[in-house]
Amino acid sequence: MKKLIEKYFLPSEYVNRFSEISVEMLKNKNKKAVMIDLDNTLVAFDDSNANEEVLNWIKELKENEIEVLILSNGNRNRVERFAIPHDLNYIHSARKPLMKNFHLGLRMLNVLKREVVMVGDQLMTDVLGANRVGVDSILVLPIKDKDGYATFLNRRMERVVMKWMDNKELINWRENSGNV
Ligand SMILES: [Mg+2]
Repeated sequence: MKKLIEKYFLPSEYVNRFSEISVEMLKNKNKKAVMIDLDNTLVAFDDSNANEEVLNWIKELKENEIEVLILSNGNRNRVERFAIPHDLNYIHSARKPLMKNFHLGLRMLNVLKREVVMVGDQLMTDVLGANRVGVDSILVLPIKDKDGYATFLNRRMERVVMKWMDNKELINWRENSGNV
């Protein structure tokens, strides 16, 4: 059981916010690209605008030759409204944790698995998908507590797994975040 949960649900790392992920941190791990979730990772699930913090973060990564791809389960409208005005690479309706669009993402970015990291706020989609494909992952806290209805079940399952990992001291999430 422990091995199985570690294999599928344990992120490589976890931070509070996307903005804590620095160029230096990524370079140290020899990463050339970031696949990043949209809803509740970059912006709140009900916010469709890329704010200055998000855009500056992406700009800094790109200036340092780290490519960024938005890998979102959100629908076309939602994701395109966010990505197109700022000329961001994206995959919408990704159906994470299915592996297909992780592989498509790797091809779009033209990188190897070990050269990319998946950043997201959900164990059941972002981390599980990355682990299945064999890509490193960074879990972030959801930007907004209140969530879309579609993620309700995922969140409940996630809490069970989180609590289990916390008990086994695999992850020190609550102490780290201070607001879960
Ligand atoms: Mg999300």
